[in-house]
Amino acid sequence: MNYKEALKNPVFKIISKSAQELQLESFVIGGFVRDFLLKRGNAKDIDVVAIGDGIKLAKQVAKNLPNKPKVQVFKTYGTAMLRFDDIEIEFVGARKESYTEDSRNPSVENGTLVDDQNRRDFTINALALNLNEKHYGDLLDPFNGVEDLKNKIIKTPLNPDITYSDDPLRMLRAIRFATQLDFMIEEKSLEAISKNSNRIKIITNERIVTELNKILESKKPSKGFLLLEKTGLLQYILPEITALKGIDEVEGQRHKDNFYHTLEVVDNIALNTNNLWLRWAALLHDIGKAPTKKFSKKVGWTFHGHEFEGSKMVYRLFKRLKMPLNDKMKYVQKMVFMSSRPIVLADDIATDSAVRRLVFDAGDFVEDLMTLCEADITTKNPKKFNKYHNNFKIVREKIIEVEARDHVRNFQPPVSGEEIMTAFNLKPSREIGIIKETIKEAILEGDIPNEYEAAFQLMLKKGKELGLKVNSKV
Ligand code: ATP
Ligand code: MG
Repeated sequence: MNYKEALKNPVFKIISKSAQELQLESFVIGGFVRDFLLKRGNAKDIDVVAIGDGIKLAKQVAKNLPNKPKVQVFKTYGTAMLRFDDIEIEFVGARKESYTEDSRNPSVENGTLVDDQNRRDFTINALALNLNEKHYGDLLDPFNGVEDLKNKIIKTPLNPDITYSDDPLRMLRAIRFATQLDFMIEEKSLEAISKNSNRIKIITNERIVTELNKILESKKPSKGFLLLEKTGLLQYILPEITALKGIDEVEGQRHKDNFYHTLEVVDNIALNTNNLWLRWAALLHDIGKAPTKKFSKKVGWTFHGHEFEGSKMVYRLFKRLKMPLNDKMKYVQKMVFMSSRPIVLADDIATDSAVRRLVFDAGDFVEDLMTLCEADITTKNPKKFNKYHNNFKIVREKIIEVEARDHVRNFQPPVSGEEIMTAFNLKPSREIGIIKETIKEAILEGDIPNEYEAAFQLMLKKGKELGLKVNSKV
């Protein structure tokens, strides 16, 4: 087959010409070809294989490009990268690889195109398009990758046992691609992944997180997490999630399986947000349930304080996986910590003051928190399902109303501590805190509006109650 139409971007002709000048052969390979055939839209990274020196080819291409881009050379990997428009183009010389037991970095020697296709992870990632003038656009598909694309199946070009053991990252990549593309993983591959799952230990946390993020960013992330669980990988990378598995029964009382519940919540939220961190919050919102689970005869199963426990676990989990311990982590923590707050509002029509308190505590995160709690509704009882969703809709409307009126989202006390001190001739003292708290509570309860004059009057009243003398100048 010929796919010249994949090579419309003028850069391909320039690569072709540059290779010819160096008397090399060159090919586009991997993700770009796969995504073209899947019509997945414009690829932003292109991989080029040269039969010969890939770095030299990159430099020649840069010379021939109108914008004369800089070439970034990665000597240890024998690769080079340059940018053209918003596309990253990576060059590598065709190679043959051999692996050792303790590392995913192989020793390499120069090879043919077929050698290079052999070292690729999946048949669908081994597809290459010829860039040489004579055969421009010809597809090279030694492992029937096109057939596998049609059948939506992930297979390794060689023996899967060796492929995954050589580079265990491929186990995560297989599951990630299956999730992103909604493909099946071939049975032999699944078996090999299960067999080699403990080899995931030699993969760095950064790479694991990259793949987890891609799974979470997919349309239906549960597919990936179910595969991770089934193959035993999840136990190694996110034991907090596998700990949610199972249903206990004591004296005929059962709780729900929080693992499957969590996956449902993640799928639900994926329909409503592309915010990766909100998706993480959905994945982690119940992790505190495993360590806080208790049974008592009186009340049955409880998970007291699981939100607080969960938010502490978020920090430890991020730290272990070398994820950023920044505002993103704090955001996920806060979401987990507050994840049950709106639930009580779902049962009944929420009062204004309850909504004001929610906005006050959640601040700018309140809409995201609502999105999380809506996704958390997984009841199979249609009556309850509708009731909860309706009540949350009302809460969302009230959030807008209350915010327009009372401005409690980023609450600033209408009367400052300084003003209280002046009013009563006070030095810093307990009373100031008490008065401030009284004013805040009155506003949240709706007893007074969030306005200076009303707050000032309440301050005077509370001061008198506390036996304070009003400054005569006030
Ligand atoms: P995406 O860019 O969407 O993640 P991709 O297939 O382009 O998908 P890259 O990581 O950009 O993935 O890798 C480019 C190509 O390099 C792949 O298509 C594959 O042929 C090869 N490749 C990448 N990682 C591996 C690996 N761990 N083992 C074998 N081949 C790999
Ligand atoms: Mg790519």
